[in-house]
Amino acid sequence: MIIPNMHYAELKNSYLFYNIAQKTKAYLAEHPDSRLYRLGIGDVTLPLCDAVIKALHEAVDDQADLKRFHGYMPECGDPSLRALIAGHYRKRGIALEDDEVFVSSGASDELGDILHLFDRQSSALVIEPAYPAYVDANVMEGRTIVHLPSGKADAFLPEPSESAKAGLLYICSPNNPTGAVFSREKLQKWIDFANANGSVILFDAAYEAFIEDETLPRSIFELEGARTCAIEICSLSKTAGFTGTRFGYTVIPKDLVRNGMSFNEMWVRNRTTRTNGVSYILQKAAAAVFTEEGQKQIAENIHFYKENARILTEALDEAGIWYTGGKNAPYIWMECPDGMDSWKFFDYLLQEIQVVGTPGEGFGSCGEGYFRFSTFGSREDTLEAAKRIKRLFR
Ligand code: PLP
Repeated sequence: MIIPNMHYAELKNSYLFYNIAQKTKAYLAEHPDSRLYRLGIGDVTLPLCDAVIKALHEAVDDQADLKRFHGYMPECGDPSLRALIAGHYRKRGIALEDDEVFVSSGASDELGDILHLFDRQSSALVIEPAYPAYVDANVMEGRTIVHLPSGKADAFLPEPSESAKAGLLYICSPNNPTGAVFSREKLQKWIDFANANGSVILFDAAYEAFIEDETLPRSIFELEGARTCAIEICSLSKTAGFTGTRFGYTVIPKDLVRNGMSFNEMWVRNRTTRTNGVSYILQKAAAAVFTEEGQKQIAENIHFYKENARILTEALDEAGIWYTGGKNAPYIWMECPDGMDSWKFFDYLLQEIQVVGTPGEGFGSCGEGYFRFSTFGSREDTLEAAKRIKRLFR
């Protein structure tokens, strides 16, 4: 008999988005004339920019033409696209070799797949509250998880300590759900800690494009010593609205070596065995993002979401509510007023002002008492929600 991977039985069911859907459905059934203002979604709402759409159309036409047709693409990415992405880093003062960049079908896929490079005996540190996939992907492999809670006292940006020692260190900055961003000084401490202990940092930079404060690091490779301890995982999902299109990229420096094994070489071997590459059509669409025109157009979309963030944070400031995020991240993480727990606050907002957000408890137990607003909603919903929040907490 085949033995299943019994670690799947250790996974905790996540009721977060299911419960939200059930509660909003029940509310609408009871109040059929009501309208809800949705600030809970982690998905983008604006369409792809013109440069990407044009590239997609061209790529489809190429596939219809005998002379321009493309079959399998190189497993680690088309060399011209890898060069384009390395060039994008170079413009920000980060020197990468083209073959240190790998293209992927998205950060989620990559965050799971990359674990294949590490022994299952190695533990994984997850700073909580956290994107739930970090824990689940490691539980599936039977890896021990070291949970590091963060909170208001450290502004959800904890420093390394003895109790944070682990083989793999997950750092997500800007963070989902807290919107908090590590400063150069704080991130440097984690890099020094990883190098001192032989750990590897998995740096999730899915939201780097939302950083507007130029003193904050958008890539871990801006900092000293990162090339010997970090892998950076990026995504065009939020940067360029690719959630339904799928594209990401990963940087694995050649200096990242443990036990004489090069993680860059191992990943080449992994990709050439376990994938047949990202499709030609998507690679062409992604390439358009890294052109001057593409960068200008995606910046306009990001600006739209940032205006949503400004509208919401202004309402919270007026209401005197403590929060992180919003300025350099598409999420706002607020403290629930009057010591309310996060599901109670969810019900309160739904009943009183018909605003839907995400209870912080769904991102780890230290998220209890906090609440996440997303800035990816429509302008109409955001404006009305902000107005209602101001009125409720006047
Ligand atoms: N990492 C973080 C922190 C995220 O919030 C998300 C998506 O919400 C992802 C990764 C997944 O990105 P992708 O759409 O590229 O799979």
